[in-house]
Amino acid sequence: MTRVFNFSAGPAVLPEPVLQQAAAEMLDWHGSGMSVMEMSHRGKEFIDIHARAEADLRELMAIPKNYRVLFLQGGASAQFAVVPMNLLRGKDRADYVNTGQWSKKAIADAKKYCKVNVAASSEADNYTRAPKQSEWKLDPGAAYVHVTTNETIGGVEFHWTPDTGDVPLVADMSSHILSRPMDVSKFGLIYAGAQKNIGPAGLTIVIVRDDLLGQALPVTPTVFDYKVQAENDSMSNTPATYGIYMAGLVFQWLKQQGGLAKMEQVNRAKAALLYDYLDQTEFYHSPVAKDDRSLMNVPFTLRSADLDKAFLQATEAAGLTQLKGHRSVGGMRASIYNAMPVEGVKALVECMKEFERKHG
Ligand SMILES: *Cc1c(COP(=O)(O)O)cnc(C)c1O
Repeated sequence: MTRVFNFSAGPAVLPEPVLQQAAAEMLDWHGSGMSVMEMSHRGKEFIDIHARAEADLRELMAIPKNYRVLFLQGGASAQFAVVPMNLLRGKDRADYVNTGQWSKKAIADAKKYCKVNVAASSEADNYTRAPKQSEWKLDPGAAYVHVTTNETIGGVEFHWTPDTGDVPLVADMSSHILSRPMDVSKFGLIYAGAQKNIGPAGLTIVIVRDDLLGQALPVTPTVFDYKVQAENDSMSNTPATYGIYMAGLVFQWLKQQGGLAKMEQVNRAKAALLYDYLDQTEFYHSPVAKDDRSLMNVPFTLRSADLDKAFLQATEAAGLTQLKGHRSVGGMRASIYNAMPVEGVKALVECMKEFERKHG
């Protein structure tokens, strides 16, 4: 068996010990005589798996007691609509910060439910930076302020937490949740699709302050009413049981690694390997403003786009896969989530150096 270093933006690399444990438990989970996939979501075994996953996530992120953790489906994209449906709370408008392709999509869906004020945007800079708080034009009458704290495609990350006063801050953290400690109490709601930094696709995590529950628009589907799901332990309908189990194994793995403060150290070291090299060569280029560079998604271009194909062949041959950048940015993108070992990043930098020697 050969495992590659997988730089996919998502679905993405998972920790190898987690995959091994899942394989070992596939046919018979803890003497139950069945796979987790075959269990009733209302049975004792699965209720334990679910409770442990939530408890471990709460511990890892230090989630305060007045926040509910929901395990939903529909991906982060469903939340683009589900957030306004639940959080407008009688108001008719919301603030959005436009930092890239994902915030743009969130804005487009929100417009179906309310007036959207784009409080700040980096579109004119081709989405290469995170607008400073001093540039934001917040509307005090907004129901909430939405920000994409890590733009997976553009590789732009907020390394600071916006201050929105009494207006709840809502964050799409899909591609950097669990990459470092975050102060959950600064947010009204956090959501993340699992397939970037948590587990398999099909599970979406929502962390919501409990005073924001209970005022969903009447048209809100029952399974997307946060209050209904909170009251039913996310089991108003059948949840993504296997995804929750896998996420739970990843949470246990993160605890074994030393928790999120430790992950931050490792992630900073990994990202520095790549950015330091990008900054010292003329052959490759990072388009993102230095202060706003993502620790998780690193887009870069080659001196000439004519070299892209040869670069992808060279990296592929070295066992480094899925480096092709998003079509809207071009070039390459290395996603270096929690589960990407430092050896993978070192191998990538070596391969880039070698390619520069040959083609530079
Ligand atoms: C991947 C991604 C999404 C979309 O996730 P889906 O699960 O495909 O709906 C939304 N926001 C961000 C920041 C993402 O990285």
